[in-house]
Amino acid sequence: MIKCTLFHRYIGTLAHRHSVVHLNMKIIILIKQVPDTKDQRFSQDFRAVREGLDLICNPYDEYAIEEAVRLKERFSGEVLAMSMGTQRAIDLLRFAISLGVDRGLLLNDPAFTGSDLLGTATTLSQAIEKNAPFDLVIGGKQSSDGENGVIPSAIAQFLGLPFVMDVRKIVDIKDGKARVDQMVVGGYYEIEVQLPAVLSVVKEINEPRLPSLKGKMAAKGAQIPVWKAQDLGLDAHRIGMGGAQTKVTQVEDPPSKTGVKIFSGTPQEAVAKLVNELMEKKLI
Ligand SMILES: Cc1cc2nc3c(=O)[nH]c(=O)nc-3n(C[C@H](O)[C@H](O)[C@H](O)COP(=O)(O)OP(=O)(O)OC[C@H]3O[C@@H](n4cnc5c(N)ncnc54)[C@H](O)[C@@H]3O)c2cc1C
Repeated sequence: MIKCTLFHRYIGTLAHRHSVVHLNMKIIILIKQVPDTKDQRFSQDFRAVREGLDLICNPYDEYAIEEAVRLKERFSGEVLAMSMGTQRAIDLLRFAISLGVDRGLLLNDPAFTGSDLLGTATTLSQAIEKNAPFDLVIGGKQSSDGENGVIPSAIAQFLGLPFVMDVRKIVDIKDGKARVDQMVVGGYYEIEVQLPAVLSVVKEINEPRLPSLKGKMAAKGAQIPVWKAQDLGLDAHRIGMGGAQTKVTQVEDPPSKTGVKIFSGTPQEAVAKLVNELMEKKLI
């Protein structure tokens, strides 16, 4: 039975390899390094503090990485991962390369510090434009720290490109257009979009792979260029604190959960206690 499954997987892989449609796509993905959500901290002036924290790839962006790599495997081409962040985001870009991304680009400059949505989208748009021509820009649905869910749409607006949010499947790419399924409450829309376009993806789109040994080796040796504000032709009044048109004036922790009861013992004992309690309360 196992042999049979493996055989089918092998045949599936071969069929997949033989069915590459050579579109030679150029895909840019947007990835952000975020604090582990259990570990968010803010400075006195409500700016996110990253020093000394464990940083991870924004969870939604792992799906963007996977989808771009799958598109490259299906249609041929190249994937460039771009991140605006601190020097530590080099590790994030190496992580993306270990998963099959070809190149990384870090946007890092003290002048970017304190950028709000507008400054972030301006900086990323400028870097994307400098990497034109491209077919697709793919980002995650939202970040786990800022959670605005705005950057990909703002970039599309700045670059004058079509945008589809919450993409749960890229059905096909043909004749300069992509057919995608957009997730909506209770179902999905099938949308045809002219390329180049910007997409944001949801977790339902794929199951991210783990880094391969070959990928890890490639990541280790990769040169990751760092672009500064000057490389992008951006001056201080458009980016960083000088360009920010929003200011966080208060940050509050969510109220701690009340009425939580923990049943102790072995799993069987805990379940028995829970069932007992629910029966006593006539809930079951
Ligand atoms: C209280 C608070 C304080 C902050 N202080 C600072 C600060 O001092 N300095 C600072 O730099 N930022 C700070 N930020 C974060 C900054 O405002 C956001 O990172 C930025 O505006 C993007 O918004 P977002 O994270 O909500 O992205 P969303 O719009 O939710 O992100 C959607 C997608 O866009 C892409 N994306 C988003 N950001 C990036 C990025 N940087 N690089 C590549 N792709 C990206 C990813 O694909 C992501 O999945 C702060 C945020 C908060 C909430």
